Amino acid sequence: MALGEFELIDRFFRQPAEAARIARGDVVLGIGDDGAVLDLPAGRQLVAVLDTLVEGRHFPPGSPPESIGHRALAVNLSDLAAMGAEPAWFLLSLSLPEVDAAFLERFADGLLTLAAGHRIALVGGDTTAGSLTVSVTALGLVDAPRVLHRAGARAGDLLYVSGSPGDATAGLSLAMGEEAPGIDAAQRQWLLDRFHFPTPRVQLGQALAGLASACIDVSDGLAADAGKLAHASGCGVCIETDRLPLSVALRAHSGALATQRALCGGDDYELCFTVPPERADELASRLADVQCAVTCIGRIEPGTAVRALAGGVPVPFALHGHDHFPAR
Ligand code: ADP
Ligand code: MG
Repeated sequence: MALGEFELIDRFFRQPAEAARIARGDVVLGIGDDGAVLDLPAGRQLVAVLDTLVEGRHFPPGSPPESIGHRALAVNLSDLAAMGAEPAWFLLSLSLPEVDAAFLERFADGLLTLAAGHRIALVGGDTTAGSLTVSVTALGLVDAPRVLHRAGARAGDLLYVSGSPGDATAGLSLAMGEEAPGIDAAQRQWLLDRFHFPTPRVQLGQALAGLASACIDVSDGLAADAGKLAHASGCGVCIETDRLPLSVALRAHSGALATQRALCGGDDYELCFTVPPERADELASRLADVQCAVTCIGRIEPGTAVRALAGGVPVPFALHGHDHFPAR
């Protein structure tokens, strides 16, 4: 049975998202009208983010549909997390080469399962024919004085990263068919999942709100994104590579290249942030309830350099993170 645009939206997106819309209680009008109407709580500010995934550019052709749905929202939740915001609502722009019900079922499942876990409601979108492209606009809420941003770090601040950077880039290599004889099945699955199903650090971002002096999410590579944070703050940064929290799976997969993967690999969706040393104890107490590991990996420095050191010796690395339009 051919499925029209209206039936497609209703079956795969409006109906499955309805419970979440009602549960929030602040979506006056959701999917079905010309625009969504949302109730803003008094005294809070809106944080708006948008990220697009293009097949063949942000994920390999033939990726599991659940992963495409999950990642489309996860990358946006990660941006909200980096601002210290609480996720509230999102819009979905979907460009599809064809109406494939089996694909849509699995895509919507990946998308809406992650949404339900973060109480973020799908309130609208757009559906067109075209090459597979998924764009999400997410809206979050923050108490104005507690918002996090990239500028704000000072020389001497401690630099932290969540989770284990570098896994996702190894997972992507595996997803693209790389043979990796050195890893077992569980390690292989861990790395693949770290690419296909990144965990946006939303709870951590909110715990850091009002405490971290600066924060960024790591999408282009840890060194590049720490460098952006430092640059926005008018400082330099030094990463001590011996302190990088490399996963067992990444070490097994990448061996001597694990440090480079952690510094330069993309798609981690971890948070990289800074805290003044005198507030490190406060960080520890705030982290008590947060379900992800956080590791101190270096410091903000005077100047503008982005450096990596191993036992005091400079570690060379390529600073450039991913750039869609690299200068020639
Ligand atoms: P319009 O022609 O006014 O742009 P559409 O027919 O594109 O409206 O969309 C109808 C309704 O369905 C709108 O409320 C829109 O926000 C919603 N919508 C369209 N595509 C999606 C989608 N992929 N996910 C969620 N909501 C969608
Ligand atoms: Mg439209």
